Amino acid sequence: MTTPPPDPRRTLPGVDRVVDALDGLPHPLLVECARAAVDHARATVTPDADPDPDARLAAVVADARDRVATRRRALLHRVVNATGVIVHTNLGRAPIPESAFAAAESVATGYANLEYRLDEGTRGSRHAHAGALLATACGAEAGIVVNNTAAAVLLALGAVARGREVIVSRGELVEIGGGFRVPEIMAESGCRLIEVGTTNRTRCADYEAQLRPETALLLKVHASNYRMVGFTEATPVTELARLGPPVMVDAGSGLLDATTPWLAAPPPWLADEPGIRQVIADGAALVTFSGDKLLGGPQAGVIVGRADLVAACAAHPLARAVRADKVTLAMLQAVALEYLEGRAADLPVWRMAAAPVAELRNRADRLAAAVPGGSVVDTEAVAGGGSVPGLTIPSVGVAWSVPDADDTVARLRRHDVVARVERGAVVCDLRTVDPADDDRLAAALRDALGAGPA
Ligand SMILES: *Cc1c(COP(=O)(O)O)cnc(C)c1O
Repeated sequence: MTTPPPDPRRTLPGVDRVVDALDGLPHPLLVECARAAVDHARATVTPDADPDPDARLAAVVADARDRVATRRRALLHRVVNATGVIVHTNLGRAPIPESAFAAAESVATGYANLEYRLDEGTRGSRHAHAGALLATACGAEAGIVVNNTAAAVLLALGAVARGREVIVSRGELVEIGGGFRVPEIMAESGCRLIEVGTTNRTRCADYEAQLRPETALLLKVHASNYRMVGFTEATPVTELARLGPPVMVDAGSGLLDATTPWLAAPPPWLADEPGIRQVIADGAALVTFSGDKLLGGPQAGVIVGRADLVAACAAHPLARAVRADKVTLAMLQAVALEYLEGRAADLPVWRMAAAPVAELRNRADRLAAAVPGGSVVDTEAVAGGGSVPGLTIPSVGVAWSVPDADDTVARLRRHDVVARVERGAVVCDLRTVDPADDDRLAAALRDALGAGPA
């Protein structure tokens, strides 16, 4: 009499045995991966599967190891941005400069005079550091820093216009991605939205016709992520500032000065992007902008402008809910100091944006020579992050025409390299790649393209 073969469903390994064969993550995460692999095996096993317990264990362990690798790759970590999008929201927007990192490390690993006046030994304000310096850097009376620009706009509207009216052009009731919709933010802040003008044209008289005692602010929103062309008209800040109520400008990108004194000349691709200094000089009473777009610092929202209005923002209860922490403030202070010292060209965002095409071409030549099949191509990089829509920055990359470009970029992602596919070719744009990562990029490409090691 022969014994019947064991049911393969009964020879599944226990989770503990699978965990014993795993490493590379903390134990609770290994348990999650092992359990998922065992559950998957149980759900997919068929009666005719190999019933040998060792074979079952090996198969489940292999699946669990894949899950561990996937889980490790999903942890927050550094990647190479070969997309040519400088302020890439999904890849963490602006890389911060070394000076900001050093300041953050020092402040974060110890105590700091965050809200303390060392001279007097009394309580101070967290706005005395980065906020005040950024105000000086753009010619404003005062400034404060909060968590991000969405919070800055919400706070400024809530503090200055709650229960009153804010006049906005119909052409500026925009959505800036990730759910930042101007009408919704205004509703949340408790002010009443008064729309004026039309989608493509709004004149000063349109605002003027709606002025009432209840008018708290005239709001201008920079349409960061799209561009209107043709029969259009918008009212400049200078004209609005003459109407009486304070003018608030959500400038968004954090271009501190449109004349870019830190560069040899303002680059053509920055045309139309409002400079904070210019908006303040034109008479805006409040300006909101981002710390991690073209300012080149950490995620933050900055409010600069008239001292009384900025003080009202700082004193509002919402300010406590959206305030920036000491690490952000340390980083942003370092960035503000770079601008004040005339060294903004060294900020990673500006270094990448202003890198000469010839320099990129040299690097592209080396990359194409190091990875078989590559050809140097002219590319178009972009500022990204909802700034400077429609304008591109001449750039250089390397392209590989392969039959399976999508699979190749997927293999590159396993090496933490994010590239683009263009007309069936894998393209790496060098403008957004740190030159220190060039060798690593070449090695990842050789592997993803099956070229073997150099
Ligand atoms: C990017 C942007 C925002 C949102 O900025 P976050 O810092 O991401 O909150 C708001 N307004 C404008 C005009 C922007 O460009």
